[in-house]
Amino acid sequence: MTLKVHCVTLRSVDYRDSDRILTLLTAEKGKLSAAAKGVRKANAKMKNLTEPFTFSEVVLAEKNGRNTVTEAEIFDGFYPLRTDVVRYYAASCAVEFANAFLPEGLEASDFFLSLVGFLKSLAYGEGVCPKNALVSFLAEALEQSGYRLDPERCGRCGEPIRGEVFFSAQGGCNVCRSCKAEGDKKYSFETYSYLRGVCSGEITSEDGEKANNVLRFFNYYLQSVAGVSLRSIPILIDL
Ligand SMILES: [Zn+2]
Repeated sequence: MTLKVHCVTLRSVDYRDSDRILTLLTAEKGKLSAAAKGVRKANAKMKNLTEPFTFSEVVLAEKNGRNTVTEAEIFDGFYPLRTDVVRYYAASCAVEFANAFLPEGLEASDFFLSLVGFLKSLAYGEGVCPKNALVSFLAEALEQSGYRLDPERCGRCGEPIRGEVFFSAQGGCNVCRSCKAEGDKKYSFETYSYLRGVCSGEITSEDGEKANNVLRFFNYYLQSVAGVSLRSIPILIDL
């Protein structure tokens, strides 16, 4: 059986002498694995397909539950991401998120479109702020994967949060001073305001330190609600 899909390459690991196993996020079938044969040989035709972020159309042959790529047409390798280390790691955070949070075989076309849009704006957008763009992408991605974090209102009373903010690991939400319960942790209101401003589009220029604090908060949030943290986030923060 063969299948034609649009996909973004999330990850690739060496396999046998000259092959690689790719993790692909497809528009049609969600995340799946596929073997790319002979791609580590010199001048291999499908070499570029194995690079992370590559957006392409591939034909997969399925046999005994295993996929092999038989044809690939590359649409965009988002080359500028590979020449700028900050953009590269912002993009890495996004594909790492997809790897960690999307279950195999579950259709995720909205997420796919968000990811392609994010990679495109990060690679080609004029005056794009990489960390802010990542914050917006992660907020949207969390919502699409069932871990929505409301940046506007208190998760308990639904009122806007003013002055002080607390994070409830148990509820997986931000809470206001009056709703704060035991175990909820206060965090910087400046960090919260920055997150809210980037998500609403009110903040359009990037403050590196504030953006870093929001990314730290995101990693703490992911750890609290899903037990996962993204390795690329601390690397991006340290750049
Ligand atoms: Zn409240």
